[in-house]
Amino acid sequence: MALKIDEELGGEPVVLIGVLKGSIHFLSDLGRAMKSDAEIDFLQTSSYHGGKSSSGVVQIRKDLDINIEGLNVIIVEDIVDTGVTLSHLRELLSTRKPKSLKVVALLSKEGCRKVHPFVEYIGFEIPNEFVVGYGLDYAERYRNLPYIAILREE
Ligand code: 5GP
Repeated sequence: MALKIDEELGGEPVVLIGVLKGSIHFLSDLGRAMKSDAEIDFLQTSSYHGGKSSSGVVQIRKDLDINIEGLNVIIVEDIVDTGVTLSHLRELLSTRKPKSLKVVALLSKEGCRKVHPFVEYIGFEIPNEFVVGYGLDYAERYRNLPYIAILREE
């Protein structure tokens, strides 16, 4: 993914925008594997409220620190489920007039979309299971697991 992103940037700088908190490890690994000149910023949304299904209402809890007007921007997401969060973020960030706006997501639950935001780079398609680890949480737990696992009820 890093190679492909570097190639498509063609030597231009980029801003990687991590969606907190789930993308932390992915952003860190992806950013370090990229050769492009990258700034890093974060924003935070909330729609899961600590549970296992989306409330469908996306709120911005922490906005960007930098102005992205005229810059190449890549939103770095942990997982795309219903697509509601990403579609909201794409819409919001495109109003700030970036030079380009793309999305990279580590995981995608393709069959679960309510809306279909475009995702330029997808790491892995996964089944409709609730997963934790490598940044992904359940009620703030499991983010530090060095692997991704399905959360079982027991
Ligand atoms: P969407 O708006 O696409 O339904 O959901 C996006 C956000 O929901 C992700 O950024 C992530 O925070 C959370 N999410 C979706 N599916 C999962 C999952 O299987 N496990 C965890 N831990 N979070 C998820």
